[in-house]
Amino acid sequence: MKLTFLGTGTSFGVPQLGCRCAVCRSPDPRDKRNRVGAAIETNAGAILLIDTPPELRLQLIAAEIDRVDAVLYTHGHADHTHGIDDLRAITARRNIHLPMYGAADTLAELARKFAYIFDDEIRPLPGTTKPQGRAIVIGAGESVRIADVDVTAVAVPHGPVTVFAYRIGPLAYVTDAKSLPDDAVAQLRGARVLVLNALFRRPHPSHLSLPEALGAAAAVGAERTYLTHLTHDNFHADLEAELPPGVTPAYDGLTITV
Ligand SMILES: [Zn+2]
Ligand SMILES: [Zn+2]
Ligand SMILES: [Zn+2]
Repeated sequence: MKLTFLGTGTSFGVPQLGCRCAVCRSPDPRDKRNRVGAAIETNAGAILLIDTPPELRLQLIAAEIDRVDAVLYTHGHADHTHGIDDLRAITARRNIHLPMYGAADTLAELARKFAYIFDDEIRPLPGTTKPQGRAIVIGAGESVRIADVDVTAVAVPHGPVTVFAYRIGPLAYVTDAKSLPDDAVAQLRGARVLVLNALFRRPHPSHLSLPEALGAAAAVGAERTYLTHLTHDNFHADLEAELPPGVTPAYDGLTITV
């Protein structure tokens, strides 16, 4: 399968609006990070999105993705969900209800914030369209078959809330984790590629810090680990040079084969 990093930035994005730090003014395109999300193309050609960040339309255009078969939501935070309306172009063209997977509380939050997407009673005016979603609840530890892949939801703590990491065959995708509890490590172990969030060098109440992320990566033991949800704390090039073998910072638009 193929994984494309649609966005690798923290909730502010990089550059951060109003910040004049050296990283936010960096000419290196890898230092420009939109809000976090990813697209997976399975071996059978199905496209699975992980989250719908606010820049989704621009991210899908940049990645030349014009078809989506399912969305996996990690949690309901704005930086992971507020691009959901951009799916209108996808669902209207195919006239489908796009399957959207996630935890019950995440999908309930989306249905509250974006009722028009999930409530078929709310109809667009004749001649107009709306995004159409079909919410499919999965429980922590449960697996579902989507197209040709088995997808397992793995619960991880994110400050006061719980987030779903996803194990998709040989890929483990973890965003917004504060830590990886032992049972999560057990479910992620064996993955060949691990995507993992890392925030600042200093500790943060709801995210893995860079040192904590390296510890978590070692615990999972994937052949390759890619860091995401990155901030203006580091130049991409500096981080790349400093990380241990097998660990790389991701950047927007990077595509890898898993
Ligand atoms: Zn900055
Ligand atoms: Zn979050
Ligand atoms: Zn986030």
